[in-house]
Amino acid sequence: MHTNPFEGAMEQLTAASRILEARTRTKREKESLKRIIDILRYPERAVTVHIPVRMDNGETRIFEGYRVQHNNVRGPYKGGTRYHPSVTLDEVKALAFWMVMKLAVVNVRFGGGKGGIIVDPRTLSEHELEALTRGYARAIAPVIGPTVDIPGPDVNTNETIMYWMADEYRKLKSQISMSKKERETLPAVTTGKPLAHGGSEGRHTATAQGALYVFEKLTKKLGIKQGATVAIQGFGNAGYFMAKNLVSAGYRVVAVSDSRGAVYVHDGIDPEATMRCKTEKGTVAGCYCKGSVCDVRFGRTIDPQELLTLPVDVLIPAALEQAIMEKNADRIRAKVVFELANGPTTPEADEILRRKHVTVVPDILTNAGGVTVSYFEWKQNMDGAHWPESVVFEKLRSVMTAACDDVWNTAERYHTSIRMGAFIVALSRIVSAYTKTTD
Ligand code: GLU
Repeated sequence: MHTNPFEGAMEQLTAASRILEARTRTKREKESLKRIIDILRYPERAVTVHIPVRMDNGETRIFEGYRVQHNNVRGPYKGGTRYHPSVTLDEVKALAFWMVMKLAVVNVRFGGGKGGIIVDPRTLSEHELEALTRGYARAIAPVIGPTVDIPGPDVNTNETIMYWMADEYRKLKSQISMSKKERETLPAVTTGKPLAHGGSEGRHTATAQGALYVFEKLTKKLGIKQGATVAIQGFGNAGYFMAKNLVSAGYRVVAVSDSRGAVYVHDGIDPEATMRCKTEKGTVAGCYCKGSVCDVRFGRTIDPQELLTLPVDVLIPAALEQAIMEKNADRIRAKVVFELANGPTTPEADEILRRKHVTVVPDILTNAGGVTVSYFEWKQNMDGAHWPESVVFEKLRSVMTAACDDVWNTAERYHTSIRMGAFIVALSRIVSAYTKTTD
C-alpha cells in the first residue's frame, strides 16, 4: 500500500511505459524509451527553502517550502504553489511530475514543476501571509523566471498571493540591468494574478471550465445522461465552480464536502447559496441549500467519507491526493469517477475500480484547464496583450476537446484505461521532444 504519492505516481509511469514498450519495435527505440523513462523517474531539481517570518506578536517563525522542477524538455517548468499544513517534499514531487504529464496531454509547450509551503494559511494574518509569500519568492528567485520556471496557484493560493510573488521577484530583478522587453515581461514570472496586475480573463474559473468541456465531450461515451447525480468532494476553487457549471448544465449535485464536513441534499444543492452559507459558517456542514434557500428540511449532514461511497452517477474528487485508496475503493458506488483533484486515486484503488467497471477520467486530462489558461496568461504577458474572456474560453475549449480526442482514441487503440491513454499521449510527446533535442 502506498502512502507516498510520488511512489504511486512512479507506478503509473511504469505501467504506461510497459504498454508503450510492448508496441515499440526496434531495439534502438526500446533503448531510447527506457532511457527517457529513467530520466522521468527523478525531478531535475528539488529546492528546499526556509523562510523566516516575523509574526505579528514579534516572534520569528521559520517555514519550510519547496520548489520542484521535474522536467523541462518541452518548455519552461510550470506548476502551482500549494499552501497546506500537510505539504511534503514527496507530495510536491508527485505534483510536479503530474504537471509534466498534464501539460503534454494538452500539448502546451511547458515542462512541469510544483511548489509548496508547509503552512495552514488560515492561521496567519494578512500581513504574515504576505511576508511569508514574499520571503518564499525571494528564496526561490534564483531558480524561477518568465522563461525558466513559472509558479501558478494551487490549493490555498489565490490571485493576491500570485501578485505578491511576481511583485517581489520584480523588485529583486529591478536591481540588475536588463532589456526593455525583459523588464516588460517580468509579470510573466507567475500566473493566476489579479486582472489589474497582468492576470488573464477566465483564469479564476479555468479549472472547472476546462473540466466542463471534458465532461461534455465525454458524457455520451461514458453513458452520463441529463439530470445525472453528482457528488463532489471538496468545495474550493475547482469543486465550487464545477458544481456551478454542472448545475447550470442540468445535472444534480446531491452532495458536497470540505475539510470540515459534508452535506447531502436529495433534490440537488444550489452552489451559490451553499458557498454563501459556507463563507458564513466556515464549512459546508449544515448548509442544506436548494433554490437559493438554505433550510434544515432540505438535506442532512453526512460524514465526508460517506460522500465518496454514495450511489451517484458521477463522483468528483476535487480536494487532495489519495481520497480513493485501497481501503475504500471497493465501496465506491459511482459509475464514473471524474478526477478534478491531482492524484485522488491511488494505483491500488485504480485497479479495484477497474475490476468493478467504474470508469475513471484522469486528473491529467480533466483538470488541465487551469494550467492551460495559465499558459494563456503567460503568453499575453509575454506579448503585451489582453484577450477577452470569450477568446480565452474558445481557445480553452479547443485545447481541451483536442486533448479528449487524443486521449480517448489512444486508450481505444491500446485497449487500455483512459488514464493510461493520457499517459501514452503525454509520453509520446515527451519522447519526441527528446528525440528532437538529441538529434
Ligand atoms: N495548480 C494547477 C494544477 O494543478 C495549475 C497551476 C498553474 O496554473 O500553474 O494544474
